[in-house]
Amino acid sequence: MTSSAALPIVPSPSIAILGSEARFPVRRIFCVGQNYADHAREMGSNPDRQEPFFFTKPADAVVSSGTELAFPSRTQELHHEVELVIALGQGGSDISVEDAAAHIYGYAVGLDLTRRDLQATAKKAGRPWDMAKGFDQSAPIGLLVAGQPPASGAIDLTVDDTVRQSGDLSQMIWSGAEIISVLSTYVVLAPGDLIFTGTPSGVGPIRAGETVRGTILDIPPVEIRYRR
Ligand code: MN
Repeated sequence: MTSSAALPIVPSPSIAILGSEARFPVRRIFCVGQNYADHAREMGSNPDRQEPFFFTKPADAVVSSGTELAFPSRTQELHHEVELVIALGQGGSDISVEDAAAHIYGYAVGLDLTRRDLQATAKKAGRPWDMAKGFDQSAPIGLLVAGQPPASGAIDLTVDDTVRQSGDLSQMIWSGAEIISVLSTYVVLAPGDLIFTGTPSGVGPIRAGETVRGTILDIPPVEIRYRR
């Protein structure tokens, strides 16, 4: 029979909101693959306007900006990907592109950290990406800004002050509204969902001891440091 002892309560993941005491409760994390043509090319793909494809990370993969992290296990090739993150305030399915903006709560700068060596092995073997993409602390994120995300503007990433990624949001193959619309045909979206919208070219390795900083325009940046 079931034990009467209560299970310990694990805190629900949430992220800080700019200018607010309230926090944004994270329900699910969706990510878009290869949404910038130059990054699709560097990954060996053809950046045709094929339907966007999605993968997920667990909600508790979120990490606040400013955190010092242990270097992830099981990888010799940890890669950075700076991305615009869209946060949903309203859910639904089969959301039209025209209606998508009304479902957005806000936006932030995020890092889609990737164990690239595990991803390469998985791709080659036709296996799932989960352990390459959805590991602990794989989704650092800056302060959430309420409102509609910008459609253009600089998106950059530095490692120890060396610029590694430098793109523009206008290079996105699929817009935020289009991504929400397509994603909502696969799953019922809900308030608390985060969508990582893809990264520009220049992805590359991070080593222990390094500081990674992602910026988009004047949105609060995301910065993490790996312990030596
Ligand atoms: Mn990504």
